[in-house]
Amino acid sequence: MPLEAYRSMRDFDKTAEPSGARDGSRSEHELAGRPRFVVQEHHATALHWDFRLERGGVLASWAVPKGIPPDPRVNHLAVATEDHPLDYAEFAGEIPKGEYGGGVVHIWDRGWYEVEKWSDREVMVVLHGGRARGRHVLFRTGGRNWMLHRMDPPEDPERELLPSAPRPVASLEVADIEPDREGAWRYLVAWPRAERVAVAVEGGRCEAWTAEGCQVDDDWPVLRSFGRSLGSLQVVLIGQLVPTGDGRGDAGTILLDDLAWLDGHSTAPLPFDTRRSLLDGLEIDGEGWRVAPVHDDGAILLEAARAQGWPGVYVVAGGDPLDDHHPPRFMRA
Ligand code: MN
Repeated sequence: MPLEAYRSMRDFDKTAEPSGARDGSRSEHELAGRPRFVVQEHHATALHWDFRLERGGVLASWAVPKGIPPDPRVNHLAVATEDHPLDYAEFAGEIPKGEYGGGVVHIWDRGWYEVEKWSDREVMVVLHGGRARGRHVLFRTGGRNWMLHRMDPPEDPERELLPSAPRPVASLEVADIEPDREGAWRYLVAWPRAERVAVAVEGGRCEAWTAEGCQVDDDWPVLRSFGRSLGSLQVVLIGQLVPTGDGRGDAGTILLDDLAWLDGHSTAPLPFDTRRSLLDGLEIDGEGWRVAPVHDDGAILLEAARAQGWPGVYVVAGGDPLDDHHPPRFMRA
């Protein structure tokens, strides 16, 4: 009974997932040599992407915590899960809290695939989807654990790997700014008790690093939900982590100032104003995270900082790249 495990784990009076009543027979897609695949983004207790391949009248399934790897240099863990009914390829919605896999499911991609090899240890396929495309292999490493490897070059041949342990450029405290660049300056609030960080996001997980190279993501619970909200986006953001209350153990808020890397490419050579447009385009806005406003009038912002008791303002030229030669200036309030 191919779907016994699937059915035994669910109560179909409580979940809207398909019960798989029509299991067993191959679909016309499979019979025609164009079996389907689907990737479902699943916001369960731990975010993951379910990779399912139609095979023998069921969906062979793996849960991939970091999603489909875009780059052959980075393999992603894929944990084999129970076969799912074919109808599941259409499923999107919310599995109720408390039920198996409780959380929101949406379809990240779908399409059809060719089989190049299929054994108990190795599954090699060519995907023809909207986002997942090209030759991939799943190989078993032990028990239910497999690795998912992209065999083709990245879709984008110039793609670079997400930097590991990125740091924000340390700010430089100044008493004043060069007046000859007047009109070029942009001003950002230095928030009280804030920690300036670079946040590397991949597979819905965040790592945050200070300019001194300390990894601080464990100190800021907000980064867990923030990472999940970004889904499969790969990005390095620069921002300030700010305590929400005054006690310890509060989740915190992240206010984003800048962007250092996006979807396979460093944005550091781009002018600040362009980086900010890219950041705005990501439409990041949630309960504990948002893009911090940029101000053009430094005198007014400094005045506001003094009135509010903020530490000061950061000053960046709109045309400057993001590197050690162009540090953000810090002016104390
Ligand atoms: Mn799942």
